[in-house]
Amino acid sequence: MSKALANDCFAHDRERLSHAEAIAILKRAARPLVGQERVPIDEAAGRIVAAPICAPRPIPGHDNAAVDGYAFRFEDYDPEQGAQLAIAERAAAGHPLEGRLPPRVAVRIFTGAVMPEGFDTVVMQEDVTVLGEPTSGWVRIPPGLRPGANRRRAGEDVGEGAELVSAGTRLRPQEIAAIASAGHGEVNCYERLRIALFSSGDELLSPGAPFEAGKVYDSNRPMLKALLAESGAVVRDLGLLPDEADEVEARIAEACRAHHLVLTSGGASLGEEDHIVRALDRLGRRDLWQLAIKPGRPMTFGRVEDAVFIGLPGNPVAVFVCYLIYARPLILALSGAPWPAPRHRRLRAAFRVPKKKTGRREFWRGYIRESEDGPVVEKFARDGSGLISSLVAAEGLIEVGEEVSEIREGDEVDFLPFSEFGIVG
Ligand code: AMP
Ligand code: MG
Repeated sequence: MSKALANDCFAHDRERLSHAEAIAILKRAARPLVGQERVPIDEAAGRIVAAPICAPRPIPGHDNAAVDGYAFRFEDYDPEQGAQLAIAERAAAGHPLEGRLPPRVAVRIFTGAVMPEGFDTVVMQEDVTVLGEPTSGWVRIPPGLRPGANRRRAGEDVGEGAELVSAGTRLRPQEIAAIASAGHGEVNCYERLRIALFSSGDELLSPGAPFEAGKVYDSNRPMLKALLAESGAVVRDLGLLPDEADEVEARIAEACRAHHLVLTSGGASLGEEDHIVRALDRLGRRDLWQLAIKPGRPMTFGRVEDAVFIGLPGNPVAVFVCYLIYARPLILALSGAPWPAPRHRRLRAAFRVPKKKTGRREFWRGYIRESEDGPVVEKFARDGSGLISSLVAAEGLIEVGEEVSEIREGDEVDFLPFSEFGIVG
């Protein structure tokens, strides 16, 4: 790992850590840092399940009617001729009938009502003729029904003991429904990862403050908070770090004691005014620094005692890319989820890049356009890592491998839609 620690920010890309090596290093740290807790089902959306959740009984619990109509025994019915049966009873949802009914009768039944004992088939009310009262007369059932028609079987959704949700699942609304359908009022979840967030740089002003000449509004912190909202972590905004070594070190040390993860942006290179990396080196251990990627070269990762430290670059586009590609998967894994694998779309390029530097991976801002031959990907024309306008225009990242030296129009490229990172809107 000596090259990971090479303190030369002008080192050639080939001496820097590759994207794949960086992912491998981060994956080694990828295990839950958090404890477990019981969470009421109403509050469990988005939480990560800590142990498998099973169905203690079949779902549904009983054979039941799928429609409003009349239930009968198929043995009392002639599929060629139909049947005319006396209506013996009424069965509504939530009010199961008790005991056995005499042969050759039908039961007026409603959707979700338990099938009477021995009854196996239901005819829809729209398909019958009722003679006399709907609950005491006769029902004329047309021919053509199959055995078991309009009946839902006990356990047809989930069998007894079956796993509803596996450990590590982030609960979506549909998993909440599955857990609720098994009757569980609480879910065993991982505690939420506690993250401390800093921006760093003497030039930064918080949005809302009056503008001052020579200053820059801090866009990384609000952007990261918005990105982190999707991660499920509890984020504490610790504001701005000045370009002053002792204060940076003291405040990072304090944040590391009270949080699982400390996330900074800016100050991660090795200029005289960059103090983040040096603070990490003094306080703990650096596992990653200087990547052969663009944007995002100064991405840093390490540990301070039990806390994980991620130092993102300063330029907003680099922050965005490094968050999505490196920080987000690690944050999810530290929170108890599996390492996520965003799916690329292979799309034809509607642009050309005659010269790309080999030996580094690049992440360009792109968006999809419909052409006569189907979807194609366009690239935002300018590459600057300070251009937030490129992020606003984009719908995803175009990921370009180390070996690629040019892109011609029509070449297939890997497009990573932002929706793969939970960014929707
Ligand atoms: P640094 O890594 O601290 O040298 O910062 C690199 C560039 O990113 C500089 O132009 C900084 O002004 C800019 N930058 C750093 N932090 C932020 C931030 N929180 N919001 C906007 N720009 C930033
Ligand atoms: Mg700075």
